[in-house]
Amino acid sequence: MRDERSITERLRKLAVIPAGSPVIKGIGDDCAIYRPRGSADDLLFTTDMFIEGLHFLRETHKPEIAGRKALVRGLSDIAAMSGTPRFCLISLCVPPWANTKWVDKFFDGVLKMAAATGAIVAGGDLSHGESLFCDVMVCGAVPRGQAIRRDTARPGDELYVSGLLGGSSLGLEKMSGKARTRHLHPEPRLGLGSFLREKLRATSAIDISDGLSLDLQRICLASQVDAAIIAPPCFAGASLEQALHGGEEYELIFTVPRSTRVPNVFEGVRLTRIGEITRAFGSGGTILLNSMPLEPLGYDHFRQPGTATRRDRAV
Ligand SMILES: [Mg+2]
Repeated sequence: MRDERSITERLRKLAVIPAGSPVIKGIGDDCAIYRPRGSADDLLFTTDMFIEGLHFLRETHKPEIAGRKALVRGLSDIAAMSGTPRFCLISLCVPPWANTKWVDKFFDGVLKMAAATGAIVAGGDLSHGESLFCDVMVCGAVPRGQAIRRDTARPGDELYVSGLLGGSSLGLEKMSGKARTRHLHPEPRLGLGSFLREKLRATSAIDISDGLSLDLQRICLASQVDAAIIAPPCFAGASLEQALHGGEEYELIFTVPRSTRVPNVFEGVRLTRIGEITRAFGSGGTILLNSMPLEPLGYDHFRQPGTATRRDRAV
């Protein structure tokens, strides 16, 4: 069975972007980049699926929480490319168990998150089906040519991560205490994303949706570099394993030119130097943790059962 990377790689090769197209970045980053003629801004587009049993469980996620989280996934991709949300489209497939009250509350969660981040809910689609399935498309804007991409990290850049990692996995496992809150209420790091562009001149960034190890490898593969890291800062009670491989953190991994002054805290969130980008030994994508190779064990939807760290998701 193929993995997520091989499927997207194949599609990327087939979905050729014609020369001169306003689509200046297609498959292979957190968002596609569209450059409207004459505009001071580039537009960012991302779409994320939100599936019952995979991204949320109806027993543990109240409808407002599920709605909020459905939108956060896309907002986090906009943050990773240093954009500002403009609008979103929400498509929802409603199963028999979800009554009108549940659906209303789901949209309350969507609308509150949208209002808090400036993302106008501009449309979508509604359908019926066997289980709850939602797709959220978010459009954001970023000053022309200034989106922070994942294919532009350079050897010698310093590597940072926001927040404390592993809390979302721990919260999913325990469903109690602060880790539970962490799992249920992720925050899109939109302010940090803008700060990385405006003040730190970050060279690359990605959000942690599938785990530090896997998402950092995505930066390394896209940039054709390697990385050397130390243990990332762990959420209280989380294991190193959870911090390295746990998904749904929605924190940002970013790189900055060497000697950039990075504050310890931004908007109450810790920023920690965890290592540096190194010249690729081969085609890139190798990560060393304390000088030992680190397997990218984060979440891959298509990995063989038994090898995937399924505890990182809701099932
Ligand atoms: Mg992402």
